[in-house]
Amino acid sequence: MSDEGLYSLYKLHLIDSKLHEIRSKAASLDVGKADAEAYRAIEKETQPIRERAKSMATELKQKEDEQATIMAKLKKFNGQLYDGSIHNAKEIESIQKEIEMLNRLAASLDDQILALMEQLPRVQEEALAAERQLKQKREIVAQKQAKAKTDHATLTQEYQNVGNQRNGAKAKVPPEILRPYEAQIEKLKVAMATITEAERCSYCGAHVPERTVQMVRAGKVCHCENCRRILFILMPGVE
Ligand SMILES: [Zn+2]
Repeated sequence: MSDEGLYSLYKLHLIDSKLHEIRSKAASLDVGKADAEAYRAIEKETQPIRERAKSMATELKQKEDEQATIMAKLKKFNGQLYDGSIHNAKEIESIQKEIEMLNRLAASLDDQILALMEQLPRVQEEALAAERQLKQKREIVAQKQAKAKTDHATLTQEYQNVGNQRNGAKAKVPPEILRPYEAQIEKLKVAMATITEAERCSYCGAHVPERTVQMVRAGKVCHCENCRRILFILMPGVE
């Protein structure tokens, strides 16, 4: 067979194409980068509302504690006033003033607590929705990363398996045919194409002149005039 040399090169080309395909797949694995970016955007955008929900809850708790302390003091002073333990008029007056002051404070705190209690549910609901959204994104990123890791391991194994066949296939290619191929492979990644039945380059679709077809049939190294790939004609039943 006059194109035996070219056929051995074609077999090497199939291995190299497969290796290139595996590398491309590995490079385009989805590691959730876009989702991680979306996560950071949501995180930044919702930070004010999430912080507000926290600070409002803390503020409410503080005011309720303050209120409880005032109520305890009021209870104590009122008790002192009516249990007959204090007789001194000045002392009674001072306690009454204290009670008045505490009552004013309690009323003001009541208003503040009510206002907070009115606003808090809406703020908390918004903050919770943001947290849910963030959690969902986190899970998506984790899932994608886990899948990419598994896929990468599979591809690495496949790459090794295919790569192991390369030296054997390369050894079968005559040097004068191998040289032009290796000169192209770095640049083109896929350095060979077949001539279709319609006499076109299978890679770029450019027309292949009849003279070139004949030369390829005779086992000569010919390049596609358009994409510079080395041309080969597949015999029926050959892959
Ligand atoms: Zn071409």
